[in-house]
Amino acid sequence: MADVDLDTLQRWLRTFAASVAEQKDALTSLDAAIGDADHGANMHRGMSAVVEGLSTPPADPATLFKQAGMTLVKSVGGASGPLYGTFFLRMAPATGGAAALDPETFAKALRAGLEGVVARGKAELGDKTMVDALTPALDALDAALSSGESLASALRAASAAADEGRDATTPMVARKGRASYLGERSAGHQDPGATSTALLVAAAATAVAEQGDG
Ligand code: ADP
Ligand code: MG
Repeated sequence: MADVDLDTLQRWLRTFAASVAEQKDALTSLDAAIGDADHGANMHRGMSAVVEGLSTPPADPATLFKQAGMTLVKSVGGASGPLYGTFFLRMAPATGGAAALDPETFAKALRAGLEGVVARGKAELGDKTMVDALTPALDALDAALSSGESLASALRAASAAADEGRDATTPMVARKGRASYLGERSAGHQDPGATSTALLVAAAATAVAEQGDG
């Protein structure tokens, strides 16, 4: 398959924004159970601003990610703004300034994003956060790419792993973020951030599949 081009990366962000818009109330209900009922609104506000920013076309993937990251940090109050913002801000330099990203570079940039989230939020696996969806997703992505799968197919595997990771947050007791204030009472609820992260990975799979085999 062709390298992931700037159009596809923009489509990824637009697709994610559309999923967030569609799932806004569901994300907010999840956050109502173990947080402060704003995750849907936060992500919707942030991703709408990111999409607005695309009206000035970015020059390259690094600029796209930097712009998206800064917009999220600026427009989203709450934990998820800085965390998603950091994710994209860390992806930017990992693209090495390339005009299009080969699968390994895309995977490496995503990994750099995850490392940024972990550095900033200090969440470990099992803390019931977005990290619990993103980590298995990127592990599945790397595994599929190493075994020679196409990026489209590897991202489908990543998306399935993100969904599983999201589902696995339900029984967890939160150890980071607002949900951790509930202690044991946070168990039995799916984590909102892991839920939006599964949408992020699914959107990447969709956007890359749409680029086709070109
Ligand atoms: P807030 O908690 O400030 O209201 P949101 O509701 O928008 O922000 O986002 C909550 C989500 O952020 C949680 O469901 C969790 O996945 C994620 N989160 C919170 N704290 C952390 C952290 N330290 N590391 C990683 N993710 C976190
Ligand atoms: Mg919240």
